Amino acid sequence: MIEDNLKEVNEKIEGACQRSQRNRESVTLIAVSKTKPVPLLMEAYEEGCREFGENKVQELVEKYEAMPKDIKWHMIGHLQRNKVKYIVDKAALIHSVDSLKLAEEISKEAVKKQVEVSILIEVNIAGEDTKFGVSPRETEGLVRAVSTLPGIRVKGLMAIAPYVENPEDNRKYFASLKQLSVDINCKNIDNVNMNVLSMGMTGDYLVAIEEGATYVRVGTGIFGERQYPVK
Ligand SMILES: *Cc1c(COP(=O)(O)O)cnc(C)c1O
Repeated sequence: MIEDNLKEVNEKIEGACQRSQRNRESVTLIAVSKTKPVPLLMEAYEEGCREFGENKVQELVEKYEAMPKDIKWHMIGHLQRNKVKYIVDKAALIHSVDSLKLAEEISKEAVKKQVEVSILIEVNIAGEDTKFGVSPRETEGLVRAVSTLPGIRVKGLMAIAPYVENPEDNRKYFASLKQLSVDINCKNIDNVNMNVLSMGMTGDYLVAIEEGATYVRVGTGIFGERQYPVK
């Protein structure tokens, strides 16, 4: 099942790249494996996946320990400051930095462990009350503040678009995240580049690629529906 799903997702990515005249190499697929067991992740690994996304610190750490070391782990979920210390040396990229305080904590732990941590700034691109992230208006200020911290490098922006039936409804949000990243890149802030745009999930990753995504985060499309325990 995973083999077929991955094949389908990769073919669709290829098609979106062709439609938008982009290099296939400019888009990286992150297999979002939250709630899924290690054997299932290993199936994806055997099919060539080396980038996995998790939204909980403990789950990321457990899977990091259990799986091959050539995997890049992406922290895509909301991150609490008191958990930063567990993942600064394990996450290849933290997608969800949305406050200076969180960035300061990452910086502190990075210096302590003598690593350099790559991060994205999470933008609440549609201004939804239910979502984390800074507003587009606050983004440049946060990027500037974070850029002065030791041990931390801003690589770009991330957004979680609204849940929609028709992915076309999110095109405007993807386009505006892209524009925001271009605008910030033009400011030539030291220690900052805006090469990474993490946007698009199972429902809308093709539109996201057409609008410039460099990372797409696909869970359900690869691993199937998630089952959460009934609370
Ligand atoms: C769960 C999750 C995804 C993947 O969602 P799917 O709809 O299953 O592809 C992507 N990004 C974030 C931040 C997530 O939490």
